[in-house]
Amino acid sequence: MADTPIAFIDLAAQQARLKDDIDRRIAAVLAHGRYILGPEVAEFETALADFCGARHAVACSNGTDALSMALRAWGIGPGDAVFVPSFTFIATAEAVSLVGATPVFVDVERDSFNLDTASLSSAIDSTTDLRPRAVIPVDLFGLPAGHKAIATIAARHDLLILDDAAQGFGGRLDGRAVGTFGHATSTSFFPAKPLGCYGDGGAVLTDDADLADRLRSIRVHGKGNNKYDNVRIGLNARLDTMQAAILLSKLSIFADELEARQRVAARYTDALAHSAVTPPMVPPGAWSAWAQYTILTDRRDDLVAACQARGVPTQIYYPIPMHRQTGYRHYPQAPQGCPNADWLAERAISLPMHPYLSEADQDRVIDAIRAVGASNAL
Ligand SMILES: *Cc1c(COP(=O)(O)O)cnc(C)c1O
Repeated sequence: MADTPIAFIDLAAQQARLKDDIDRRIAAVLAHGRYILGPEVAEFETALADFCGARHAVACSNGTDALSMALRAWGIGPGDAVFVPSFTFIATAEAVSLVGATPVFVDVERDSFNLDTASLSSAIDSTTDLRPRAVIPVDLFGLPAGHKAIATIAARHDLLILDDAAQGFGGRLDGRAVGTFGHATSTSFFPAKPLGCYGDGGAVLTDDADLADRLRSIRVHGKGNNKYDNVRIGLNARLDTMQAAILLSKLSIFADELEARQRVAARYTDALAHSAVTPPMVPPGAWSAWAQYTILTDRRDDLVAACQARGVPTQIYYPIPMHRQTGYRHYPQAPQGCPNADWLAERAISLPMHPYLSEADQDRVIDAIRAVGASNAL
């Protein structure tokens, strides 16, 4: 029993819960046959916008395209600087490069893993050869970034804010849902994200009706009102009807799953409070979507080995910060560099986290971590 591997993310448990509903919805799509932008897509967009309180949701092909579509819709391109945290998934910076703009890497905070506003300010001030246009805060591991402080800085410098909520959709900050911060929010429905489909998918959320119209044009080759007059350069970046049908089912239990994630996270944090590792910090007023439960340790290799021996999977997000990646290290960064991103890349490790993690399995994870014992305090 002790050796049965634990799932890092258990999509099978969720599927067992939703199987009948998902089968029914897939059968409905097969029956009507409108596989591209069928009725489920618009129905899902409405449900998604309602879930977070945004006015508009534009579903699309994946979270990376969601980011680049928003930047493209704003006309951001060559000569423009877009400020992104260095400690994130590659897609955040990639989307900036894909529209021809320049990502400028900003450091993060050691305790929240999210954008450091002092580093953001100095990065903006030191950007002289490019036009500062936008900032992409990331709600890393599900925790909302410091959106209030970021909005103040962005307003001072006339920057657009695109919240990368690929991991953070479902989170809240001071009673406000992720999806309503910034001028637009992007998210991803990659299967392992808190709200995932059975393939690739993404969305942009915004209160800006003009922006939503432009996004709907961009996701279908830049279409205009006349089908054969394309009014701008676009993409083929639609969400499949089949995935929208699956997402409608998953969204119906998403709030309940977020509560379950909250319980799992609280139980980890209680159990690890007096251990040798540092549990994740949640600032007052913040409510994480708990895409990942990520701890800090200065004995990461030992911890990985202890977990492996007990059938406990772990993941390292992210071993190399953006400003050190081969394809990205030539881009500019904050004047003081990104030392906290470097520091986290050596110490962060993510534990099994999903809404269906049993207490017995969670205890095995906790025992494995405790087995590594005390070390230098962080
Ligand atoms: C997953 C992820 C993305 C990209 O989403 P895809 O749907 O895989 O393209 C972007 N940003 C962050 C922070 C992510 O975790």
